[in-house]
Amino acid sequence: MSNDKRLSFEFFPPKTEAGAAKLAATWKQLGQIQPGFFSVTYGAGGSTRDNTRDTVLAIRQDGYAVAPHLSFGGDGEDSILALLEEYRRAGIKRIVALRGDMPSGMGMARLAYANELVTFIRKHTGDHFHIEVAAYPEIHPEAGSYDEDVMYLKQKFDAGANSAITQYFYDVDAYRWFLGKCQAAGIDAPIYPGIMPITNYQNLARFSAKSGASIPRWMARQLECYGDDQQSVIDFGIEVVSRLCQQLLQAGAPGLHFYTMNQAEPTTTICRNIGLGQGN
Ligand code: FAD
Repeated sequence: MSNDKRLSFEFFPPKTEAGAAKLAATWKQLGQIQPGFFSVTYGAGGSTRDNTRDTVLAIRQDGYAVAPHLSFGGDGEDSILALLEEYRRAGIKRIVALRGDMPSGMGMARLAYANELVTFIRKHTGDHFHIEVAAYPEIHPEAGSYDEDVMYLKQKFDAGANSAITQYFYDVDAYRWFLGKCQAAGIDAPIYPGIMPITNYQNLARFSAKSGASIPRWMARQLECYGDDQQSVIDFGIEVVSRLCQQLLQAGAPGLHFYTMNQAEPTTTICRNIGLGQGN
């Protein structure tokens, strides 16, 4: 597989010192694969603001390219502007701009749509940041319709986004169909598939139900059979996800974005299986 494909690895900000130390070991290990960048999630409503910023700056200080995720949440423009300025001063050149989801218990403030944040970033920082936005090959759970969701993705590009990263999915045809619809809607920017390695079926099922990502029935039934046999879950996940990645790249995906869950494995093994990174 060719090395011109972009790889990126996503982390969430750790809550404890032990978690931070473990994450530092993880990014050093994944750094050997030479990804285009790491990214760090952000809790809308500012719930992880400091943790996200601290993690982003630590990765940057270690010499890696890193993209903070960002959303308005219920925050005012001033605090978002201050964060953007801090990132710019730290030499950060990429932002993942999102509407986000309000964490439970944090009120019902209207969340600004991602296109509003993209417009805001462009207005205040010009072309400094490469802006990534989210895309949904299986369509965002709140979307009125498939075509409407694609139209709102187009709106994010029209506002100044450069590329998109998708929610995870396990059906290559969902991605192929989505790319076709995006092209028909006039979107010609790269759309990077989001890849979720499988390590724990219960967690995956819970998260998928919330985020609208489907697990094909044959996969769910096979994973159920493994029960508490964690090693079989992991082995199955590596095989299925490696195959998915290969098929996506063959289908024309410009690269892959891994939801690492702050673990170097199984992402490292999957990248090796598909011939990306580590000197391949
Ligand atoms: P938007 O693009 O604003 O879309 C949200 C919904 O509103 C969609 O249904 C869309 O069709 C509709 N819509 C969009 N614009 C308009 C408009 N102008 N008028 C009316 N309807 C509109 N969540 C976090 O909390 N933190 C993270 O760090 C995070 N990182 C993510 C990274 C990736 C790569 C992805 C794919 C998702 C991530 N998420 C994260 C989840 C994301 O925040 C949720 O899916 C959220 O519900 C939608 O965010 P968005 O940016 O896609 O929203």
